[in-house]
Amino acid sequence: MNQVHTPLKPSNEDLFAFDNDEILLFDDTLDSREAPLSDEEASTWKIAIVDDEPTVHRATQLALRNFTFEGKPITFFSAYSGEEGKQLIATGHPDTAVILLDVAMETHDAGLKLVEYIREELHNRTVRIILRTGHPGEAPEESVILNYDINDYKLKVELTRQRLLTSAIAALRSYRDITTIEQQKIELSQAFEHLQQLKDRLQDHSYNLELEVSKRTAALENANKELHRMVLLDGLTQVANRRCFDEYLQQQWTLLSRLQQPLSLILADVDEFKRYNDCYGHLAGDDCLKQIAQSISLALKRPTDLVARYGGEEFAIVLPLTHIDGARQVAETIASIMAQLKILHVTSPVSDRVTLSLGISSMVPQVGLSLETLIATADNALYQAKQEGRNRYCVYEASKLEL
Ligand SMILES: [Mg+2]
Repeated sequence: MNQVHTPLKPSNEDLFAFDNDEILLFDDTLDSREAPLSDEEASTWKIAIVDDEPTVHRATQLALRNFTFEGKPITFFSAYSGEEGKQLIATGHPDTAVILLDVAMETHDAGLKLVEYIREELHNRTVRIILRTGHPGEAPEESVILNYDINDYKLKVELTRQRLLTSAIAALRSYRDITTIEQQKIELSQAFEHLQQLKDRLQDHSYNLELEVSKRTAALENANKELHRMVLLDGLTQVANRRCFDEYLQQQWTLLSRLQQPLSLILADVDEFKRYNDCYGHLAGDDCLKQIAQSISLALKRPTDLVARYGGEEFAIVLPLTHIDGARQVAETIASIMAQLKILHVTSPVSDRVTLSLGISSMVPQVGLSLETLIATADNALYQAKQEGRNRYCVYEASKLEL
């Protein structure tokens, strides 16, 4: 392979009369230079001449001397057989723009074999190929021209400078368009890949955000539950507080009014609690209330039953769907629990243990009755239990109720 640069100086200018567009005469007395490719030359159009006749190389170079296309000059590379051509395109200069290719070289179809090699094995679809032959009989099949993307086919006898220039310009223009499209394809593909990466990153980001939101939502839900619990629970005894009692009783009253089912209420008061505090101190008093509340809470079996701290040492037990007899049983259970707790109360005139007085009321909510009635009657019953000596329960008697 030889590398040759334009412009070239013919040793005998008389042999060529390109300005008159005459037939190129091939002669091997032409001078040619060989030199390594410089950086500047890298920005040139590479044209490979593959031909077994040295005169063709020289004549071609001379014909295209000083020729530039889009401001870039031409660098020529020479190969003298199909095999040399393969090496030139495969490893030497795969970025060759145009090949001026002889058909018959070491074999009658060496040029066609080279075309097949370039397109099929190297998968080089960009290089433009102009076939040249000295014999009209060597013309390739139409299918070869079509399948192997051959740009032009010329008989060497037809080669004039003008025709060569025209062919070279058309081939370079085509090469430029193809490489531009290829470059755009690469840029598009890179842009697409970049977009894909952005999309992936966005998806990751979105996933992390969702994760974070879900974590925070869970934390918020827990905080809300805790807050709700704190709002509805009595801090000391850890049973429902007064607010919770009011809301729950109202809710049950409305519901059971609709269902026309009974609602029972027990109000419980710790007997002689002031004396207990005076004797054992407030801390012991608090502890006493806690034990009573927790014990009553454990004694309630149905999920709808509720014990709440009603006042200082007063508790309220709400028993939905419970008749007076059921409420009576709960009161007895509570009394039994108190007996088991055996909290010492030496200053109580009632007993040497802490006791409770209980007032029970039960009614089916109906017109003329109200929550306040239920509470008031339970309170009356409690008052009655106290009056009767404490440490007992009394049941509100319906006959005493003035509607
Ligand atoms: Mg030949």
